[in-house]
Amino acid sequence: MSTSTQADNVDAHERDQFAAMASTWWDREGPMRPLHDLNPARLSYIMRAVNLNGSAVLDVGCGGGILAESLARQRAQVTAIDIADEVLDVARLHGMESGIEVDYRHSTVEDFAVVAPAAMDVVSCMEMLEHVPDPAAVVSACAAIARPGAELFFSTLNRHPLAFALGIVAAEYVLGLLPRGTHHYQRFIRPAELAAWCRQAGLQVMDISALHYNPLTRRASVGGRPLINYLLHARKPDH
Ligand code: SAH
Repeated sequence: MSTSTQADNVDAHERDQFAAMASTWWDREGPMRPLHDLNPARLSYIMRAVNLNGSAVLDVGCGGGILAESLARQRAQVTAIDIADEVLDVARLHGMESGIEVDYRHSTVEDFAVVAPAAMDVVSCMEMLEHVPDPAAVVSACAAIARPGAELFFSTLNRHPLAFALGIVAAEYVLGLLPRGTHHYQRFIRPAELAAWCRQAGLQVMDISALHYNPLTRRASVGGRPLINYLLHARKPDH
């Protein structure tokens, strides 16, 4: 059963599930293996659209910091937020080992929007929207944090039968790539829904692309129809 406190848009069951996986976050052969495999493709998607060097970036739902560290390696000034203390501890420890500086903070994106409105050049929110009770509110908070002219990047899973077959049945039950119960089909988001939430938040949708993942070769690539995993790039108009 999922429990959620609508007030802070956090599903406590989801948070606890990620917290339980914190210690294996950086194990490339562990339960977070797909995130490690997807990371180069999503990083290059971001880098095609923005120059990260010196940019102020917020990574929302950062987990153990896989994307956040890779953004900081490109010389971005990265702040990264999550609501699970355990994963933030792992992220901070890993940062000390790797010498990559990221400012990790315990916060919901809605709270962060109150303290840092229009503060960031880039906002990324990857593989997180499908874990929250009200994803549209997350998109709107991301938009509030972005400065005019900023670029935003989201990734999630499409509520399409193929995503059920491959993203849940194959990944969790057949191949055992992800722990069972990681994803819930009804929380997956159609690209048109995510695009509509972006527009409602005053953002311009620049691109929607599939994020293909082949678990056998462990290669990820961007492009094509967004049937399963996909990326969305949006821009906050500067007027
Ligand atoms: N974005 C990272 C981690 C994805 S896993 C990556 O792609 O590499 C999803 C993360 O979202 C988990 O760390 C979980 O704790 C976090 N999360 C879940 N609900 C959240 C919420 N309401 N606010 C912020 N983070 C949340």
